[in-house]
Amino acid sequence: MQRIFEVDPWNIVTHKLDKKNKRLQESMTSLGNGYMGMRGNFEEDYSGDSLPGTYLAGIWYPDKTRVGWWKNGYPKYFGKVINAVNFIKMNFLINDSKLDLNKDTISDFKLDLNMQNATLTRSFVVEKGDAKVKFNFRRFLSSAQRELSIQKVSFENLSKDPVDIKVISALDADVRNEDANYDERFWQVLEITDDSIIAETKPNDFGTPRFTSGMQASYVTDLTQVGHETTDLETSQIFLDTLQPNETKTIEKRVVVVTSRDYDSVDDLRDAMEGISAKISKVSYDDLFASHQNVWEQRWNQSDIKIDGDVDAQQGMRFNLFGLFTTYSGADSRLNIGPKGFTGEKYGGATYWDTEAFCIPVYLGITNPEVSRNLLMYRYNQLDGAFVNAKQQGLKGALFPMVTFNGIECHNEWEITFEEIHRNGDIAFAIYNYTRYTGDKSFVLKEGSKILTEISRFWADRVHFSKRKGMYMIYGVTGPDEYENNVDNNWYTNFLAKWTLKYTLKVLGEVSAEQAKKLNVSDEEKAQWQDIIEKMYLPFDEDLGIFVQQDGFLDKDIKPVSSIPKDQLPINQHWSWDKILRSPYIKQGDVLQGIWDFIDKFTEREKKRNFDFYEPLTVHESSLSPAIHSVLASDLHYEQKAVALYERTARLDLDNYNNDTADGLHITSMTGGWLAMVQGFAGMRVHDDGTLSYKPFLPEKWNGYSFRQVFRGRVIEVCVQKDGSHFKLISGEPLQIEVHDKPLLLK
Ligand code: BGC
Repeated sequence: MQRIFEVDPWNIVTHKLDKKNKRLQESMTSLGNGYMGMRGNFEEDYSGDSLPGTYLAGIWYPDKTRVGWWKNGYPKYFGKVINAVNFIKMNFLINDSKLDLNKDTISDFKLDLNMQNATLTRSFVVEKGDAKVKFNFRRFLSSAQRELSIQKVSFENLSKDPVDIKVISALDADVRNEDANYDERFWQVLEITDDSIIAETKPNDFGTPRFTSGMQASYVTDLTQVGHETTDLETSQIFLDTLQPNETKTIEKRVVVVTSRDYDSVDDLRDAMEGISAKISKVSYDDLFASHQNVWEQRWNQSDIKIDGDVDAQQGMRFNLFGLFTTYSGADSRLNIGPKGFTGEKYGGATYWDTEAFCIPVYLGITNPEVSRNLLMYRYNQLDGAFVNAKQQGLKGALFPMVTFNGIECHNEWEITFEEIHRNGDIAFAIYNYTRYTGDKSFVLKEGSKILTEISRFWADRVHFSKRKGMYMIYGVTGPDEYENNVDNNWYTNFLAKWTLKYTLKVLGEVSAEQAKKLNVSDEEKAQWQDIIEKMYLPFDEDLGIFVQQDGFLDKDIKPVSSIPKDQLPINQHWSWDKILRSPYIKQGDVLQGIWDFIDKFTEREKKRNFDFYEPLTVHESSLSPAIHSVLASDLHYEQKAVALYERTARLDLDNYNNDTADGLHITSMTGGWLAMVQGFAGMRVHDDGTLSYKPFLPEKWNGYSFRQVFRGRVIEVCVQKDGSHFKLISGEPLQIEVHDKPLLLK
């Protein structure tokens, strides 16, 4: 655990420039507006260690796969989100000497991310020779006008003599990704002018689309513009002025960012960029900021969570919601939620099963249904890619990818690409989950039924029949626990495959005749699916009364995680891979993931036996892990365990629990705090008949907590205090809910 920011309910703030942990500081001060985002990099060059990162949603490059030993079927490329043209760059010269916080003498440093209005500020006093200047930076990415980035910098001369301040503000296409497989630059400049750059991604050998991005800068300043410089890759504007003692001057940089995702030709893109720049030139900073702030005010009104009596927990919870809002706004079904959002390169900014398994359950509760529906549409629109993936494995139907931008699998590790096929079941589950939560059947009866049918076709071909056992089996898989590879009969995968077939048959019974015709599922096919449902092998141990993670799991040398010496944790940073594979330690919920998915379908005894057996073996080395265990612990009334796991998920990045936040935030895991509180402490469930129910308890160390939840056109406020729980209908039609199994009418 490592805490480098102060504890505060609304701000992520520090008064120390932590040069050793600069990357961590940058991750934690990232901004985003769903369309673009960036790490908390400084605007000026910094000669110390730093990870530059500015990203545009949906803009990626297929980086040629690099593996030691090629195996047939490997994806040819690994898609990655690429560093965008650096548009925040501004360098400052004080009496001709360049500002560099790694070398300069500074005091009164403050770095502050305000989560209430998504603004990053930084201030310090720098002394260079006789000159002493106070700098104030302020930056936001507009949530009202998604193409707009605004930076405002002011300088105050604190010295006795006049000081020359020069500002060189650039748009710089000389950027690279730290994780580029071949150390290439991904952008080629098409056009460069005094105030704009239009650049296109390099050609590629894989037939994936190239992207163009355009950026145009404009300034509002009381400094004097003295010139500009343009090279092949960079365009800069230069400002210079002399500041008298105590005098303050300001420069505001506005950049409009457009991409070919929204415009067909470079001419259209340029027109749009110029059009938006002209429009915003007429609006004051205060008004631009006010409309941005307004969006955030509405968001927090609909979804803020308040925790009384624990500022650590409060900050963690808001930081998580903030991370989700900055990453995905839900307006564009071509976009998805990368595990690191706009905060780092790792995981390539691509789409993982994280979206369906961990994000949709939360987005359903904090935003309008269209947001989750758009995430499902994203998969529907990528069905063609899923057909290619299945075919690649010699199988029928659709195999959705583990990692993708366009539907085609692009992960480079065989044990994940070929084997982690449970993802297909998770997508099917998400369709069910959406339908159950929203009551909206229109998706499942149309696009959803197509996805389900094609996934079922895949499962029906992927299983094999064991004549000896008279049962269907699934061999050679990796379950959610990636610390086991190439296993047979992973309970979670088999269970989800069986469930998907069953659900699909049910849905097929409800679709219109026209849709049934389109889906074209024959009676023979249906009979085969029914046979698999009836004879699917689900490993179970009678003595222990548990579902067995996979064949052979119980023959391992089973000892709890508590027996591992502390200095060997996390095992993925201390043990060789083979030692991990041989061990009984579980990276993240596997059997328990399945029990969490269908939490109200298992008996108390089943939940307890499996939790008591598997949780002590779980190292939670995926950030996705603690939350679902916290929910299960709450369900089983293991209060202390539930709270401990909640703390681990809610402050995962703020306290750098997994020692890897320097690479970027764990955006998809930021759903964990909400899940642990709403599904866990408040026991919120939505049942198949649409009933919404709660079984709240208050963790002992808190005085109370409250949250707002969106449900079927309503906003409901749940407030749990020492004297009991209170429910209020904030907006929408009256609703009958259940609290501790008793009906309660909200009106
Ligand atoms: C987890 C996966 C997850 C991926 C991206 C891995 O560490 O094991 O389940 O999809 O991270 O978040």
